Amino acid sequence: MSKVTIDRIDFDVRSIRKQFPLLAQSVRGKPLVYLDNAATTQKPQAVLDTLSHYYAAGNANIHRGVYALSQDATQAYEGARSKVAKFLNAASPTEIIFTRNATEGINLVAQTFGRSMVAAGDEVVISEMEHHSNIVPWQLLCEEKGAKLRVAPINDDGELILDELAALLGSRTRLVSIVHMSNSLGTINPVRRIVDLAHERGIPVLIDGSQAAYHMAVDVRALDCDFYVVTGHKLYGPTGIGALYGRSRLLNDMPPYQGGGDMISSVTFEQTTYNELPHKFEAGTPHIAGAIGLGAAVDFLTEVGFDAIASHERRLLDYATGMLSELPGLRFIGTAREKASILSFVLEGVHPHDVGTVVDTEGVAIRTGHHCTQPVMDRFGVPATARASLAMYNTTDEIDHLVSALSKVREVFG
Ligand SMILES: *Cc1c(COP(=O)(O)O)cnc(C)c1O
Repeated sequence: MSKVTIDRIDFDVRSIRKQFPLLAQSVRGKPLVYLDNAATTQKPQAVLDTLSHYYAAGNANIHRGVYALSQDATQAYEGARSKVAKFLNAASPTEIIFTRNATEGINLVAQTFGRSMVAAGDEVVISEMEHHSNIVPWQLLCEEKGAKLRVAPINDDGELILDELAALLGSRTRLVSIVHMSNSLGTINPVRRIVDLAHERGIPVLIDGSQAAYHMAVDVRALDCDFYVVTGHKLYGPTGIGALYGRSRLLNDMPPYQGGGDMISSVTFEQTTYNELPHKFEAGTPHIAGAIGLGAAVDFLTEVGFDAIASHERRLLDYATGMLSELPGLRFIGTAREKASILSFVLEGVHPHDVGTVVDTEGVAIRTGHHCTQPVMDRFGVPATARASLAMYNTTDEIDHLVSALSKVREVFG
């Protein structure tokens, strides 16, 4: 498939679905309607084949092996790094560090950049809509250093209040760490504006791209951000693999994260010198198969194309928003002007967990809970929400299934 254009309206969702074997199954005697993509996406055959081929025919430990199998595995692993670099438009593959997930990418920055740059009285700025993975690592750091975590507020639509964020940036701010797209609200933040505001004051910016990266094209150089994290299992890739993009100037100056094999250049009991980028940050045998699988996933995403994905998901979101708005007693949490692919809501008089349980009996998988964003729940005064989240393989038919399953909730709970 070659590159598609934005006005392509015949996005062939059926042929996309055929590439995801899991979607064909039935659950509780009903066709599965999978709408929990913000938690994890399903895997296309190309990724499954890559994983099984690697273990069946290509498995060997990487780096330092002189035999063909090891060299091939090394090439595939480093090839995957190049694919991820290209996917994010990094200047060089050496700016891509493989991690276990987005959470580890953020912890890596907190424990290396953070521990060396943040001192007592300094500040780290985040927002009220962050995932716990972009809150707790900074709390741990601030606690250790006697630094302060500052939180930029959001408005009633779930939009970041940019002026308030700007007002928090000062001479003690060492880092801004902000989500690109919220997993509980769907809000897309103006991250390029935030980077500009921070850079005007010489403050680096980390962007949590866990959600954004499978809905829209990400260009770390156009964003001009200093760090960007993604997580493989939401990118239609394997679990246990993620990537951290870091500007090489910063990565070079940062101390190592974990010590061990592969991250060293030489070791004596007196002194150890560290390997060059990116290996300095990858101690021990990495998730070789995962990285190669992630490479296949970004190939798949590139082949389908974000123009096609985004316009299909936009149509689905508009359709779903319209349909759900007609349900009596439904209140959306997260109505930002700039949002994508996420419908978080509460049904008056019904606990979100009950909503999830009833729609499950109809084969519809949605998530209920705080979505690892408890401060967002507090902000909106709800204990939890029900969340339907869309991916490229979802259809308007599935939205209809969700709506009729939600009508059942009303029948059950009155
Ligand atoms: C999923 C998610 C994370 C955490 O991803 P992991 O794969 O669990 O590390 C962080 N931030 C956002 C916005 C997310 O959606």
